[in-house]
Amino acid sequence: MSDCIFCKIINKELPSTVVYEDEQILAFKDINPVTPVHILVIPKKHISNLNEVEPEDEATIGKIYTVIKQIARKEGIAEKGYRIIVNCGEDGGQEVGHLHFHILGGKKLGTKIV
Ligand code: 5GP
Ligand code: ZN
Repeated sequence: MSDCIFCKIINKELPSTVVYEDEQILAFKDINPVTPVHILVIPKKHISNLNEVEPEDEATIGKIYTVIKQIARKEGIAEKGYRIIVNCGEDGGQEVGHLHFHILGGKKLGTKIV
C-alpha cells in the first residue's frame, strides 16, 4: 500500500527505531509513547486491521505473540507485566490502517479497559 505510513516504515522510506525484524514481522518504537515502553509490532504484509486477517495470515499472527514475548524480555518488562492492545476500526480507536499490536509497559497500568 503506497500511502500507508507503516508500509513506508517497513520499506525504510520513513525512519523508525526498529527493535525486531524478520521476514514477516517488524517491531519499532511508537513515535508518541504513552508508557515508558511503547512498541508497535506489525506484519510486513499490509493487513488493514483484524477484520482483514485471512487464514493464510494465521502463522504470522501467531508468531507475533512469540515476538512480543521476546521483546518484553529484552525490554525488561516481562516479569512485571505489560498490556497488548489491538485497536480495530473507528469505534476501536484505530488511527493507522495497518494492523499493529501495541506493547505497553514499564509502569503499573490501571485495571480499567476503557
Ligand atoms: P492506533 O491508534 O492506530 O492503534 O495507533 C497508532 C499508533 O501509531 C499511535 O500510537 C501513534 O503514536 C503511532 N504512530 C503514528 N505514526 C507513526 C510514525 O510515523 N512512526 C511511529 N513510530 N509511530 C507512529
Ligand atoms: Zn501498510
